[in-house]
Amino acid sequence: MTRTAVIVGGGIGGLAAAIGLRRTGWEVTVLERAPALRAVGAGLVLQANGLRCLDALGIGEQVRADGHDDVTGGTRRSDGRWLARISAGELEHALGTPAIGIHRADLHAILLDALPPGTVVTGAQVVRVTAEGEVTYREHGTNREAGVGADLVVGADGIRSAVREALWPEAAAPVFVGVTAWRGITPVWPHDLTVGISWDRGAEFGIVPLADRRVYWFAALNAPPGEPRGDEKARVRARFGPWHDPIAALIDATADVLRDDLACLDTPLTTYVKGRVALLGDAAHAMVPNLGQGANQALEDAVVLAAVAARPDGLALYDRARRPRSQRVAKASRAAGRFGQELSSPVAVAARNAAMRLIPPRLALSTMVRFADWRPPDLG
Ligand code: FAD
Repeated sequence: MTRTAVIVGGGIGGLAAAIGLRRTGWEVTVLERAPALRAVGAGLVLQANGLRCLDALGIGEQVRADGHDDVTGGTRRSDGRWLARISAGELEHALGTPAIGIHRADLHAILLDALPPGTVVTGAQVVRVTAEGEVTYREHGTNREAGVGADLVVGADGIRSAVREALWPEAAAPVFVGVTAWRGITPVWPHDLTVGISWDRGAEFGIVPLADRRVYWFAALNAPPGEPRGDEKARVRARFGPWHDPIAALIDATADVLRDDLACLDTPLTTYVKGRVALLGDAAHAMVPNLGQGANQALEDAVVLAAVAARPDGLALYDRARRPRSQRVAKASRAAGRFGQELSSPVAVAARNAAMRLIPPRLALSTMVRFADWRPPDLG
């Protein structure tokens, strides 16, 4: 008898889980609340662990072909002086594969293409879930509700997960971490493009090249909660424009600047599984983006879940395999944010910068490979 799975959420984690579960014999439906599927966000860095998961799902080559594989430059000061430098070659040598910069829309399209038409039901906002696998959703633009039952329900519905809220009432809500981030993509590639992250007091700017000579940039700033939205591009230009080249040129060339007030699940969940329901991705372990691992961890969750879900103790195995590792990565991401972008006292910043200049490249590299050096199970 075919096993059935309902996945709540058609983001990177949900679509990857759908591909993986189909590969291991499940009949899968994805319920997505958005009326049409579109990738929200700008670019993304996929690291060795995430790329290996995409290989396990059979789409690694396509993703590499649509990505750009020279995304590692190191860390600089806002005046452009290097604090630590790592070449993409060194990272590739250490991990056997480079990191990839990719447009989220391109990754999303590849994930969707790997699923048969009709797998994803859009305009389906999940409003209730039971541990016995009953899912109720509301059809977009109506008050009509519909229900579906499954052997497995996957909560892949992001940081504000309705599945987590329904079945994990004891879980603490996500917290704002005091940082606002902006992201953009330029259609131009400045002649003096240098890849990497630059830091000032309580501020960070990152540059990631994408395929087709586009550039993804992100900026982050310590900020009080609830700052009103306005002309976000002007705000970023005013704060980061005076930094080293080509930051001003990148901001000027950007049409849409996205803003996110960063939040994370600061109190780790004590289980990712309740009855027939498993949480995955940001729904399980939303983390700050300082290690660039959020989506990579969602991909790990998806492949591990697909590998074990059919076993009699499959969900317990999933919880044991995924919770400690993803929560370690989330904790390290938070620490990286505090050591990097969030540091604002002049003395602490000077001490951090001096220490970074003294760290041998080999040691800096080992920090980067620590979490990226992970291999997924084989999905057959
Ligand atoms: P989401 O992408 O949030 O998807 C959830 C989906 O569920 C959405 O489509 C939503 O519409 C749907 N949904 C929500 N509620 C319901 C409901 N009730 N019913 C039905 N559907 C619902 N990660 C990296 O690995 N590398 C990076 O370089 C990186 N950079 C980042 C930069 C920034 C500024 C930020 C904020 C994050 C970054 N991340 C990065 C993290 C990454 O974006 C997330 O970890 C990842 O997108 C999580 O995927 P997900 O599928 O779990 O959740």
